[in-house]
Amino acid sequence: MEQNYYQKEIETMSAEEMKKLQSEKLVKQVKHVYENVPYYRNLMDEKGVKTDDISGIEDLHKLPFISNADLRDAYPYGLLAKPLEDCVRIHSTSGTTGRRVVAFYTQNDVDLWEDCCARAITAAGGTKKDVCQVAYGYGLFTGGFGLNGGSHKIGCLTLPMSSGNTERQIQFMTDMQATILCCTPSYAAYIGESLKEQGYKPEDIPLKAGIFGAEPWTEEMRQGIEKTLGIKAYDIYGLTETTGPGVAFECSEQTGMHVNEDHFYAEIIDPDTGEVLPEGSKGELVFTSLDKEAFPLLRYRTRDICVLSRKKCSCGRTLVKMAKPMGRTDDMLIIRGVNVFPSQIETVLLKEGYEPNYQIVVDRVNNNDTFEVNVEMTTEKFTDKLSDIIGMEKSLANSMKIMLGINPTVHLVPPKAIARSEGKAVRVIDKRNLI
Ligand code: ADP
Ligand code: ZN
Repeated sequence: MEQNYYQKEIETMSAEEMKKLQSEKLVKQVKHVYENVPYYRNLMDEKGVKTDDISGIEDLHKLPFISNADLRDAYPYGLLAKPLEDCVRIHSTSGTTGRRVVAFYTQNDVDLWEDCCARAITAAGGTKKDVCQVAYGYGLFTGGFGLNGGSHKIGCLTLPMSSGNTERQIQFMTDMQATILCCTPSYAAYIGESLKEQGYKPEDIPLKAGIFGAEPWTEEMRQGIEKTLGIKAYDIYGLTETTGPGVAFECSEQTGMHVNEDHFYAEIIDPDTGEVLPEGSKGELVFTSLDKEAFPLLRYRTRDICVLSRKKCSCGRTLVKMAKPMGRTDDMLIIRGVNVFPSQIETVLLKEGYEPNYQIVVDRVNNNDTFEVNVEMTTEKFTDKLSDIIGMEKSLANSMKIMLGINPTVHLVPPKAIARSEGKAVRVIDKRNLI
């Protein structure tokens, strides 16, 4: 495939030049954060690091980490580095109660993020002649607006569909001759199945490429989607804390995602000791925002387990590559694209007068996540009247839906029916084999 770049000079920059650029940005960014974010200034003071100690990327390891717990502590404005009047947007993760992450953007932050998404669409073969269907959710979730902005930057005809309403997706895809589809891989697979059911063959579908991410997906799933839709499927990675999708993107080689490292410096650390590991080691992925103005996290621990590689890539890009994330250091599940923590289920159970004896069972059937929660009745709540049980299950499912944003199927089981573990309780049975 002939290579196109959105910002060739950056995307193919030599390693020395890139390091120089990153170093200059880091020195400025550390000053910006130290002066404007008292929360991080305290962390630096506690560690005894001064802004003058940072004269380049090689000094990054001296800086303290920022973790999700810090984000919670500092919620909502504690990590903001610009006056609110200079911010133009917020986005937020799906998590509720304490887990919610709210990220702020200046106009410049939005611009740089959209550039990152434009690089991703271009790497997937997108040009201004393309029709780009964005079927990620629009709203607080970052996916829709991020890819929408990238598509505009390139000059694609953008179809801002948001997610859902599959009938309409298919109608616009075929009537408007969409050539690029952006959505979660599960939704892409679902659209593919629906097209097939309606009698479409891959050659009847105008699409040529898809940009899919925001949740883990396997190589087998990629092959399935590529076959049903007759496209090449590209991975894209990101997280709300650093902007959203577009932190890293796949190229034609499809052997990992190039990190937009002029904006986000990536490190791999040992999750237990915090020590920086050499290239090629498996560990926790950490990002430093080199350019962000409003919400510039330094050394943010993503909790994604990953590997970085500087092996030469056939696409000509020199940006470091990250592997598909290989798991998490915490217990977060991603179900139908939504972040779910077992502790959220626990909160609901306790609030509704149940004991925290439960088990989450997740599976993937026809490329769709199934999500079941088995909950023990307490002796007080115990009943064998079916209509009561159904009513209680519905009410619990509804409270969980309010907490999580997605609907589980709740099964009530008799007291003591869930096997007790001698060690850590087995709260989650994930049958999806995503890794
Ligand atoms: P987003 O809004 O981009 O989905 P969230 O902050 O809700 O971001 O979730 C980010 C997490 O989603 C990441 O830390 C990672 O675990 C997961 N994720 C995002 N993209 C991918 C991807 N392409 N492959 C696997 N996991 C991903
Ligand atoms: Zn490449």
